[in-house]
Amino acid sequence: MLRLQGKNALITGASSGIGQAIAVRFAQEGANVAINYRSGAAQAEETRALVTKARGGTPGREILVQADVSQESDVTRMFEEVIGAFGSLDVLVNNAGIQKPTPSHEIPVEDFDRILAVNLRGPFLCSREAIRHFLPRGGGVIINNSSVHEIIPKPKYLSYSISKGGMENLTKSLALEYAGSGIRVNAVGPGAVVTPINKAWIDNPQARMDVESHIPMSRAARPEEIASVFAFLASNESSYITGQTIFACGGLTLYPEFRVAWSSGE
Ligand code: NAD
Repeated sequence: MLRLQGKNALITGASSGIGQAIAVRFAQEGANVAINYRSGAAQAEETRALVTKARGGTPGREILVQADVSQESDVTRMFEEVIGAFGSLDVLVNNAGIQKPTPSHEIPVEDFDRILAVNLRGPFLCSREAIRHFLPRGGGVIINNSSVHEIIPKPKYLSYSISKGGMENLTKSLALEYAGSGIRVNAVGPGAVVTPINKAWIDNPQARMDVESHIPMSRAARPEEIASVFAFLASNESSYITGQTIFACGGLTLYPEFRVAWSSGE
């Protein structure tokens, strides 16, 4: 399918995990792709090579753009570089995100601020630049990488779950504000996905089994299964959808503890 042919897309934090899978999928669908990375130029180059290969000869371009999404000056420079290279932008994916486990009463304020800066300030800064560009052009698409923790609490990951909770309102408020200007803003809420952010359990069979035992579909997702939802939301196939989070979570948002009727005396 070439649903994104001729579209120009910027994906933040795209040199690994879900962001990398989105870059690959968008290229397969015909988009020009700007791969943002914060550090690790070699890994970013590897991603670019993967994206080139994924095109399989169909036309399109991919560029690398270094920026820390939490820094305003980095973000404005990144947009200048991307729009300079592609001529315009059609799709922004706010994917970059970090987390760190700490009991909430022990969180250093620097860690709290850093996680909010990357996961929430970054999407705000990038969305602001994108909207400034979209408005005179008559529209565009923003897709946020949220999480099931947009709506499910996550003890010991307070800053992370606050950031994803905030992302729900970032998505909805921007969607409402710019619905009449041709700009659609949506989010994807993944459950557990096999990516480097989950290094604590992906390579440990016992820990992974433990994680997967909580998931109604009994398995974690492949990054490609999340990327396909982004491709749908970036394409005109979702032309009447705005302000929504699509949860791609194997059933995690379905209150799995209620699989059996434990509260009704049966
Ligand atoms: P990942 O660690 O592979 O990807 C995160 C990316 O963000 C990395 O490439 C990292 O370099 C980049 N990044 C970090 N700080 C940055 C900054 N300041 N500026 C630019 N880039 C920065 O993990 P992932 O699982 O692919 O995570 C991607 C997104 O998916 C995150 O927002 C995460 O919260 C979300 N998510 C992941 C899962 C999961 O289970 N893997 C579940 C729900 C949501």
